[in-house]
Amino acid sequence: MPHEVRGVVARAKGEPVTIETIVVPDPGPGEALVAVQACGVCHTDLHYREGGISDDFPFLLGHEAAGVVEAVGDDVTSVAPGDFVVLNWRAVCGICRACSRGQPQYCFNTHNATQMMTLADGTELSPALGIGAFADKTLVAAGQCTKVDAEAPASAAGLLGCGVMAGLGAAINTGGVKRGQSVAVFGCGGVGDAAIAGAHLAGATTIVAVDIDDRKLEWAKDFGATHTCNSANTDPVEYIQSVTGGFGAAVCIEAIGNPAVYRQAFEARDLAGTVVLVGVPRPDQKIELPFLEVFGRGGALKSSWYGDCLPSRDFPMFIDLYRQGRLDLDRFVSETITLDDVEAAFHKMEAGDVLRSVVEM
Ligand SMILES: [Zn+2]
Ligand SMILES: [Zn+2]
Repeated sequence: MPHEVRGVVARAKGEPVTIETIVVPDPGPGEALVAVQACGVCHTDLHYREGGISDDFPFLLGHEAAGVVEAVGDDVTSVAPGDFVVLNWRAVCGICRACSRGQPQYCFNTHNATQMMTLADGTELSPALGIGAFADKTLVAAGQCTKVDAEAPASAAGLLGCGVMAGLGAAINTGGVKRGQSVAVFGCGGVGDAAIAGAHLAGATTIVAVDIDDRKLEWAKDFGATHTCNSANTDPVEYIQSVTGGFGAAVCIEAIGNPAVYRQAFEARDLAGTVVLVGVPRPDQKIELPFLEVFGRGGALKSSWYGDCLPSRDFPMFIDLYRQGRLDLDRFVSETITLDDVEAAFHKMEAGDVLRSVVEM
């Protein structure tokens, strides 16, 4: 029997989201039905609503979620009803060229549920990032469910499903931050602050937070920033050099996706250091860099997709670190809200008033 539940739907480009009755099928082969407990509000949800990702309206929004598996398809063995899971958008296939060369964190063939969720009139919904978790229940591929310790609250655990994982992984997986290194993070929203937390976890001893909003710089200190720089009134390149013995940071993480800021990250980097781009650029943006400097500075210019995470490896580990008091996921939760408040949460996010609003079902 299909399930009729409430969900947050973007019906048309730029229109405020609405609460709709959505129809969620019972899981078929390879699928899992998840009772969503919490789902964070991410910029990507807003991008879907604005038509910035595709034109496949209507979208069922929400993708940073945790919940409990309610039912699985006959052939599913990886998770079972009752499991507490974080949903991921990297359900590794095991057979693509990335998976077969032993790099499943780059899987090119990640999969979603086969059956479609619909509106009550039968209109098919496009779930955000193949998840669609601003809903009481959602249908995903079983591989999108990563079992974690059930003692973690869903509001905190779910954040690992997207933005927080992207930031932690930008520092730890992509940037390879090591003990004693210097790190600079440009942009101190949820992703940037997670990168700061990741650099702190990895043992970086100098962590410079760069933003143009003093409120965000204060929050960044809570995650482990040792220095802050308001780049609206201080040159961040000179500042970072001044606190790193004149050399620049070993790892510079750009968490905005802005060409001018990327250039700052490039210039604030120590010789043979690493620049990590985890902010998502717009299609029309271009960068220009002095080519001789690209060569002469050595090191690496890398991009971080989803923090180069492997959900099965990383989500349970970060939940363990959370439970041990070494990673404060709760601090990312600025407020908990209901499904009815998602549109208001978009406005707070745009105004920079929150790190994360989290919907609790
Ligand atoms: Zn694969
Ligand atoms: Zn997201």
